[in-house]
Amino acid sequence: MTVDPPGTAAQSQRRAELSVNLERLRARVARACASVGRSPDEVTVVAVTKARPASDVRILAELGVRDVGESRDQEARVKVAACADLPLAWHFVGQLQRNKAASVARYAHVVQSVDRESLVQALDRGAAQAGRHLGVCLQVDLDPRIGGGQLRGRGGAMPDAVPALAQAVEDASHLELLGLMGVAPQGIDPGEPFGLLGEVHGRLLESHPGATVLSAGMSGDLEAGIAAGATHVRIGSALLGARSTLK
Ligand SMILES: *Cc1c(COP(=O)(O)O)cnc(C)c1O
Repeated sequence: MTVDPPGTAAQSQRRAELSVNLERLRARVARACASVGRSPDEVTVVAVTKARPASDVRILAELGVRDVGESRDQEARVKVAACADLPLAWHFVGQLQRNKAASVARYAHVVQSVDRESLVQALDRGAAQAGRHLGVCLQVDLDPRIGGGQLRGRGGAMPDAVPALAQAVEDASHLELLGLMGVAPQGIDPGEPFGLLGEVHGRLLESHPGATVLSAGMSGDLEAGIAAGATHVRIGSALLGARSTLK
């Protein structure tokens, strides 16, 4: 197995930092769960390591993190290869172009940001070629202001497009429908968009009872996500520190 340059002072300092952050984050998740009568065992932290080096991923794995998120194919591909010896599940959480789908299908375990049928088909073909199966979450657009328009910033399907997309995933032989993902729009109370996401999820579960994943909540709004029933929170800055460039 490959190791980082043997115990440099910088590495051990980073390890101490990430260890404290992870402990704080777990306590925060536990408090959020307690305040709405849920068990923290129901919530998986996905560490979003975009714009962070593979050495951080390695430290997080040593600290017990098992789910890692990335949002750009080029960056993710390299990091996954550098961490191939680690027992990690890789979640692709960023907006995905169809021409990158085959690449993502070679290494991702879960693609959380599927929001259109052309992507469903491209991922299914890519997974078939790679001899793999992928878990899929449908990303729902939660922005009431610009939803569905060309100004859509963070991607996502309109809530009423979810049933057809879910069926397309079910029909794809190399994809498994896991559930839904949503990003709360900035500048408004996240309770409302996450409440909508929870409702859409409730309806999805009626026809697809296996689609139990609800990925909602980031560093700034994980409490609202957990209150709305999140099974997965996607945490970057609260765990890894502020990014110099936002992606
Ligand atoms: C970057 C990112 C996150 C993590 O964001 P933080 O605010 O740093 O926790 C979560 N989800 C998606 C889709 C992201 O792009």
